[in-house]
Amino acid sequence: MEHYVVIGNPVAHSRSPRIHAAFARQTGQSLEYATLLAPVDAFAATVQAFRAAGGRGANVTLPFKEEAFALATEAAPRAQRARAANTLRFDRDAVFADNTDGVGLVNDLMRNVGVAIAGRRILLVGAGGAARGVLPALVDARPARLVLANRTADRARALAREHGGVFEAMELGDLAGERFDIVVNATSASLAGAAPPLPESVFDHGVAYDMMYGRGETPFLAAARAAGATHCIDGLGMLVEQAAESFFLWRGVRPDTAPVLAMLRADARAQ
Ligand code: NAP
Repeated sequence: MEHYVVIGNPVAHSRSPRIHAAFARQTGQSLEYATLLAPVDAFAATVQAFRAAGGRGANVTLPFKEEAFALATEAAPRAQRARAANTLRFDRDAVFADNTDGVGLVNDLMRNVGVAIAGRRILLVGAGGAARGVLPALVDARPARLVLANRTADRARALAREHGGVFEAMELGDLAGERFDIVVNATSASLAGAAPPLPESVFDHGVAYDMMYGRGETPFLAAARAAGATHCIDGLGMLVEQAAESFFLWRGVRPDTAPVLAMLRADARAQ
């Protein structure tokens, strides 16, 4: 039995153990997958202890994605571009880092929701590990315009510089009157029951996508709906799609995501 974990703080709420257990059943793989809470100042030590106990791989969630990239000895190109990792694979002496958040978001939008990204105007809100992770995939999907905005505007500007200015950085306060086809919330504001302060204009009868998921509508999606967004989507599909990519990296088998997403939606309705 090989052992995997999702490491974060907080992490008890994570749906990843349920997803990976379903993938393992579906593909006939023998593995165990659990949550692992790391103290905020002891991520590397927590990873080291898990490796020493024989752990084979980890998903990494907030607030450790940048630290996860920093401790890797090798990294996939998409993780190098993001400078953040959500997936670690422990090989003999090496720690391989990847970032599957971007492909998870793009696959969910394009395959599950049926929304095109090419040629569309996209606003990404947030500049933490999740935003870092999805930026390369969003750039590669060739939107007409990609704007990054963050509460701490300097972080958005720094990220735009890191990417050679291939997208714009804007202050949240300068978004009034701006219009987008897709607005993606990559902030953790929903964890505190809040929505990032966005002007109504940004939603412009378009798609509102919250990477956050949970019981009921998130504050961001409620605000987007009230402002006229026509498609309001939570991050459960992204969660399942990024998990499938991690599973493939670890096990070399690509699971079918549709039944697992349907199972999680049923779980959410039953809560
Ligand atoms: P993080 O590294 O801690 O970054 C948090 C971000 O949220 C920062 O940009 C921060 O702005 C912003 N923020 C926090 N509170 C805010 C508020 N009240 N108003 C406006 N902005 C606020 O976290 P992360 O790893 O990027 O994760 C962000 C979210 O994405 C989490 O909810 C996570 O669960 C979700 N996520 C979902 C998936 C999925 O598969 N569905 C995958 C990855 C992440 P400052 O820079 O100003 O502090």
